[in-house]
Amino acid sequence: MPKRKASAQKAEAINNEDSIPSAKRAKTQKSSSTTRRRGKGKNNKIVEEKPKKPDLRALLLDLAQAPLDIVIAIFQHLEPYDLLCLARSTKDIRRMLLSESNSHFIWEAARANVPGLPPKPDDMDEPAYANLMYDAHCHECLGLNCANVVWEWKMRLCRSCEKDLRIQSDELDFVPNPPFVTKEEFLELIPYHSMVDVKNVTYVRPAPRVNFWLESIVNDYLEEYEREVIDEVSALEWRTRLKAEKDVLNKQVKKCQRWHVRRLDERAYQRELLLKERRLE
Ligand SMILES: [Zn+2]
Repeated sequence: MPKRKASAQKAEAINNEDSIPSAKRAKTQKSSSTTRRRGKGKNNKIVEEKPKKPDLRALLLDLAQAPLDIVIAIFQHLEPYDLLCLARSTKDIRRMLLSESNSHFIWEAARANVPGLPPKPDDMDEPAYANLMYDAHCHECLGLNCANVVWEWKMRLCRSCEKDLRIQSDELDFVPNPPFVTKEEFLELIPYHSMVDVKNVTYVRPAPRVNFWLESIVNDYLEEYEREVIDEVSALEWRTRLKAEKDVLNKQVKKCQRWHVRRLDERAYQRELLLKERRLE
């Protein structure tokens, strides 16, 4: 698959600073709170002192100054989402975690800390993959709480953006050049998103499906095709490679879908537990 958005994905993955989680910060702050009695006598009340805000920026700057082997040892115990947030924190940590040659083993260790996390696709770098799996922003409009991921396109898209971007085959007007494959065969070989056609569902036959493509992906593959295919032999090689890539992608999509659903279920369960605990307090 063309490495169409590797650098863009990495930049987007890291630059999206709004998504630095506040939950952990809140937790740290809460645990440091103390109580004290105000006034004397019977009616004195126990009041909660305002927790002192830890200076996270300073802590992170200190961390960046620590010996490298210690920093690496700490980072290898984290998860990819933690690394993603750290990479958005200070310039030094960002530089360290974005340097592919120096940091890939940290990210690999972090991925191994998450049971069941599907393997990273070869055409994605580590920050982009962590961003896709964990960050809750729509990649198009940057809207929050986006749980919809189009795994075939490796994009997190809110329903509205997905609707705006997706395109059906009859809206795509092109002929592969040189014409060793038809438009239909070309579209079948590249990644597309398939959905149940809800308007035509009946109980008497299997639910029909409708396929959607992303124009930018189609264009990337067309460019690649025109670059690589010059005769029947290279067309056959191209077709064989794309079929193999499609098989790998389909397996990856299934694993990611299962992992994502499980993660959403776990998060919903945790939220429910938290609400119950708060009601009991
Ligand atoms: Zn959106």
